Amino acid sequence: MLKIKNLHAKVEGLKILKGINLEINAGEVHAIMGPNGSGKSTLSSVIAGKEEYEVTRGEIVFEGEELTEFDAEERAHKGVFLSFQYPVEIPGVTVTNFMRTVINANRKAKGLEDMPANEMLKKIREKSELLEIDRKFLSRSLNEGFSGGEKKRNEIFQMAMLEPKLAILDETDSGLDIDALRIVANGVNKLKRPDNATLVITHYQRLLDYIIPDFVHVMLDGKIVKSGGKELAYELEEKGYDWIKEEVGA
Ligand code: ADP
Ligand code: MG
Ligand code: MG
Repeated sequence: MLKIKNLHAKVEGLKILKGINLEINAGEVHAIMGPNGSGKSTLSSVIAGKEEYEVTRGEIVFEGEELTEFDAEERAHKGVFLSFQYPVEIPGVTVTNFMRTVINANRKAKGLEDMPANEMLKKIREKSELLEIDRKFLSRSLNEGFSGGEKKRNEIFQMAMLEPKLAILDETDSGLDIDALRIVANGVNKLKRPDNATLVITHYQRLLDYIIPDFVHVMLDGKIVKSGGKELAYELEEKGYDWIKEEVGA
């Protein structure tokens, strides 16, 4: 599904990504871990196509197409989803109505008509049941007074509704309580299918107590320096990152 080869990228003239290689197949859950400042969020932004980030070398091939030729919106329409790190508040617009707008904008970009109202309702019901989201939540104003857990719930609901092929969940470095962790993990586990893939970016080993990744990668100074199975996450929890720095001579 996704093949990243020797990816180098800059932001504000600074080299941040220094030769990333990563391959993700349909059906897989990958986790990228690494100390603060190692470039994890930069990698997710570069894949999603945020404008400030300049790819200087390498390739990002998604389902056979070079992604760097497309802007962020086009990438989203191709099925690349990046969780929103700083969700906007829209007073007066409910979670459900916002979702309708997003889904229909997505369809419009593909030359499709709006989703019929009954189909939309059915889908909302189906996905909210799957994720155990109650009706009251769906009629709340978007992000207004949301707790950390509720923001996550909204984000995972969006992901469920949009059914991306590749979901990238970049967990911010602070403010994730255990409730929010569980919501994210539950969503990832329940939405896993043979035809989609998830990349979870975190420096919380605890998230990986709830999500079982198929592969774990460690990022240090703009490179993936070690990859393994879920046992690598446990090793990191126990020993931190220093042993890896020594191992790779960083
Ligand atoms: P991580 O997510 O692993 O904590 P980031 O990708 O956020 O790492 O940051 C990697 C480095 O890139 C840091 O030194 C950070 O200051 C820098 N950086 C990231 N985004 C920007 C930006 N928009 N402008 C300037 N520097 C940035
Ligand atoms: Mg950071
Ligand atoms: Mg980050």
